Amino acid sequence: SMQSKVHLITENMVQSILPKRYADTHKGSYGRAFIIAGSIGMSGAAILASKTALKCGTGLLRTAVPNSLIPILENQLIEGITLPLEEMLEKGILDYIKEENVIAIGPGCGRSQQFEEILHTVVRNATVPLVIDADGLNMLANNISLLKDLKVPCIITPHPGEMSRLTGLSIQEVNDHRLDIARNFSEKWGVITLLKGARTVIANPQGEVFINRTGNPGMATAGSGDVLTGMITGLLSQGVEPLKATMAAAYLHGTAGDRAAIRLGEYSMMAGDIIYEIPTVIQEIM
Ligand code: AMP
Ligand code: MG
Repeated sequence: SMQSKVHLITENMVQSILPKRYADTHKGSYGRAFIIAGSIGMSGAAILASKTALKCGTGLLRTAVPNSLIPILENQLIEGITLPLEEMLEKGILDYIKEENVIAIGPGCGRSQQFEEILHTVVRNATVPLVIDADGLNMLANNISLLKDLKVPCIITPHPGEMSRLTGLSIQEVNDHRLDIARNFSEKWGVITLLKGARTVIANPQGEVFINRTGNPGMATAGSGDVLTGMITGLLSQGVEPLKATMAAAYLHGTAGDRAAIRLGEYSMMAGDIIYEIPTVIQEIM
């Protein structure tokens, strides 16, 4: 019965999801996004996700990274605000996140105790939509019942390896039953699951499943997923509802990747090249 509720994500759907911009608005109208990401050796993940959120229309962006990365972020991301994690932990995380419209956690964050504490606090206390990716998911896998404390919509974006850790199933099993596994996880934990790979699967807690057909193997490259997280975050900041933001992001991400592949080839395209294509993709759809 549930089997019948599988939909393809189409360009028309995405067109109707993307919010229009009206004359009488200001940056506050397009929301505040908060991204918690990065660690020594992986500052790029924080930068890629952050740049992407801005490219997707976020009004105001703050990125929290370990103190040692602040100079790098300040240099590479002049439009965003940066915050040191250490200060957040000292002064109380909740004070920092209370004004935000969306929180994303995980890209390149490693598995430090610092980040784990922040993840737990954010999951338990968030009052706005939450996106958990990458090492955020790996930390979540150690304490999955944390999801029971969620009071807000939560989107998780695992690749099959991360999904294997979250479920205890093998990667082979995840790949063999992608639809059922994403749907079961969403129903069990009440989250939106975006299971990555060729033909990304998105499931919601109601048992609906959506499949994205854009994208190509050139996107199997470092940082590609961080761009997706930035896209979902950017759309959520603008008040797009969580399932729709996830669907539109998957479609736009794949389409931008397809453009990058045409321009540069699947071998040579890199994650930053996907970001470069976002403006054209959005303009062509809107
Ligand atoms: P990550 O593994 O977190 O860097 O995410 C990789 C991103 O690239 C996800 O959005 C995947 O869906 C996408 N991707 C990776 N390989 C392919 C592929 N062969 N076809 C289409 N999309 C892909
Ligand atoms: Mg990833």
